Amino acid sequence: MTNMREDAEMIDIVVIGLGTMGSMALWQAAEADGQSVLGIEQFGPVHANGAYAGESRLFRVAAKEGQLYTPALLEARRMWKALGQASGRELLLETGALSVGPDDHPDLAATLTAMQDFDLPHDRLDAEELRSRFPQFAVEDNDIGVLDQLGGALRPEAAVLAATERAVKLGAQVSYNTEVTGIDVVDGGVRIHTSRGEVHAKRVIITAGPWTTRVLPELRDLVTVSTYALTWLMPRHIEMFTPDKLPGFMRDLGDLHAFGVPTLDGYSIKICPHLVFDEVADYAQRASTLSREQLRWVGAQAARLMPDLVPEPVRWSLHADSQTASKMPIIDTVADGLITVATGMSGNGFKFAPVYGRAVAELAMHGASEWRHPLFTVAAHRERLGAASATSTPTG
Ligand SMILES: Cc1cc2nc3c(=O)[nH]c(=O)nc-3n(C[C@H](O)[C@H](O)[C@H](O)COP(=O)(O)OP(=O)(O)OC[C@H]3O[C@@H](n4cnc5c(N)ncnc54)[C@H](O)[C@@H]3O)c2cc1C
Repeated sequence: MTNMREDAEMIDIVVIGLGTMGSMALWQAAEADGQSVLGIEQFGPVHANGAYAGESRLFRVAAKEGQLYTPALLEARRMWKALGQASGRELLLETGALSVGPDDHPDLAATLTAMQDFDLPHDRLDAEELRSRFPQFAVEDNDIGVLDQLGGALRPEAAVLAATERAVKLGAQVSYNTEVTGIDVVDGGVRIHTSRGEVHAKRVIITAGPWTTRVLPELRDLVTVSTYALTWLMPRHIEMFTPDKLPGFMRDLGDLHAFGVPTLDGYSIKICPHLVFDEVADYAQRASTLSREQLRWVGAQAARLMPDLVPEPVRWSLHADSQTASKMPIIDTVADGLITVATGMSGNGFKFAPVYGRAVAELAMHGASEWRHPLFTVAAHRERLGAASATSTPTG
């Protein structure tokens, strides 16, 4: 590894964790002229442990919290396409993103409001139109479909690699298989302790995902670790489930929520009826397996939503993400601006990654970014937490 000696030069910006946000932050920091930039990653360049692992991520532009997120998603879409073009990889599959659910479902109403407010191209389909255009779904008479035409599916592993490679091309250094074990704020900078020695930096960006509180324990009151299951099932007629025929989708039915992506492997589709796991304090305590009962439930629910599916997952995996109580990310500086952090992505962060990467790079370099919403600061999170505990009903 470079720059690990005691007498090492001072690096301008060190990014800790080169997963989703870190690879994007590295890329964005490397775009700035005259900065030395180093990324440190505990595993290899692309690995199976990150919050990004698992083949695909849904992308949509019309956020149900419209004003807060839709402008960032429009900018993210532009950046995803630019990164795809620069890397020669198809990172965003432009399949559209289809929400299907009862016509009075609050999420669908809010999604339609965002589409109207931001004049986004979309289709609103009634039950009959849904059945004829998307026969893969079992549709109830009171269901509607809302197709976000700018949505689709992202390829997360390819995206992390593309952003990191772009950063390296622009001059960034990277150090893999190197775990950051601690950081100290010292006079005028940050000393970073790693499994392979020390690095000195003027500014540090922490993008350590579900491992964040190991590096930054002061966020333990705000950030937990959540687990999400990905499951894939086999259709009997795979030709109906290709990206040209099936968009990325979200399906609400009663109290069941599921999301999915068309086939990318040629034999199965990703469809994930929502399983709930305990939130835990540390990555080591996360759920790491699915029981036979859970797999049977997933199979039965998925086949209920899409009758062509064989009711048994053919593959599955569990992944952790960092979580906040409000599900809003934390994007902020601490230690008088020496440390910038992006965490608490709460199962929803991938689609925003280039924009949030830019936000942390700008915060680290300039102390401000138009892409960091005031509600994402540590202070705003603590205020919300305080307000929630002040109004919560005692249970004892
Ligand atoms: C199963 C699942 C499905 C999801 N589906 C969607 C979706 O459809 N759409 C969407 O927009 N979002 C989705 N999300 C959310 C999104 O994938 C995450 O919010 C996002 O990937 C989080 O990125 P991150 O950079 O915070 O963490 P990561 O991508 O995990 O990056 C953290 C990196 O830091 C490294 N690291 C940690 N600690 C250290 C250390 N001490 N030293 C060195 N390196 C370190 C890790 O190895 C890792 O590479 C999903 C999440 C999950 C888990």
